[in-house]
Amino acid sequence: MSKRTEKIILGLIPAALALIMCTVIALLGGKVINLERRLKGYEAVEQLGARESRLVQLSWIEENAYASSDISELAARNYTDDPASLAYPCDEYEAHPSEGGALYDRNGVTYAADSDSDGIHRVYLTFDDGPSIYTDDILDILAAYDVKATFFVVGRENTASYARYLRIIEEGHTLGMHSYSHVYNDIYASPESFAEDTERIRTLLEDVTGQTPVFYRFPGGSSNDVSATDMHELEEYLESQGIVYFDWNVSSGDAGKTPLSPDQIIHNALQGIESRDTTVILFHDTAAKRSTVYALPTIIEAIQSMDNTVILPITYDTTVIQHDHP
Ligand code: ZN
Repeated sequence: MSKRTEKIILGLIPAALALIMCTVIALLGGKVINLERRLKGYEAVEQLGARESRLVQLSWIEENAYASSDISELAARNYTDDPASLAYPCDEYEAHPSEGGALYDRNGVTYAADSDSDGIHRVYLTFDDGPSIYTDDILDILAAYDVKATFFVVGRENTASYARYLRIIEEGHTLGMHSYSHVYNDIYASPESFAEDTERIRTLLEDVTGQTPVFYRFPGGSSNDVSATDMHELEEYLESQGIVYFDWNVSSGDAGKTPLSPDQIIHNALQGIESRDTTVILFHDTAAKRSTVYALPTIIEAIQSMDNTVILPITYDTTVIQHDHP
């Protein structure tokens, strides 16, 4: 080996060593990054677990805050239905007799009047905005009186809500849609945003219950004056999707800014039932509407004691109640 070759080889050794070290560092570096990622993944899972168990705790606290009032206690309560004893103006909820197939006005809202009467008064109890911490109480009460109702629900993605969607269906009630988000500015922004929101709640309910919901209630009703989109356009969209929308012709008034007492809700809900063939009563199933739960047994008992009157869930046979609006 010449001196020159020896020199070249000696010169290459540090370069080769450097190359090997770089490779080792690169390999180790990759391993470290992978390890870091996995660690972060575990942390995220751990955090999620902690969050979930906190949520479970919170819902337990919520549920148990209400546990003191059981159904027999609710049913045993007696409420007066004497308007004079109520410290609020109930004129606006007074019965408006329907006039031979025509439309009639109430509180600025026009309702379709009944036609072709068979002498039976059909009453539909409808609950908007659920599921909530009160859904199970409402379902317990309905079961106790063997009454089926209709729930127009919004999108809530947690296990407690999934169980409530399912229970509504399993116990023979009608599960309808009331938008996914219930945020007026979003859903009514355009026909596209409305379609997107509707698809979202429909898919969620389908996924959870295995049944496709076919009834809809517009947040704020079809006669709402907040929609940025022509409501007729949205009504046509629903029709194109095979979805039937329902408004109401009696409001229990349980969603007002000032919370009503059970007595007030009872008084409102029972207005004019005997003068109508079809009564769709609007109630709310939200955490803020505890009075509705207390009012419900008395309302059901009062309706069940009326002649030729039945309480039914909304089906395709139900006379459609829709607000007339410009
Ligand atoms: Zn609502």
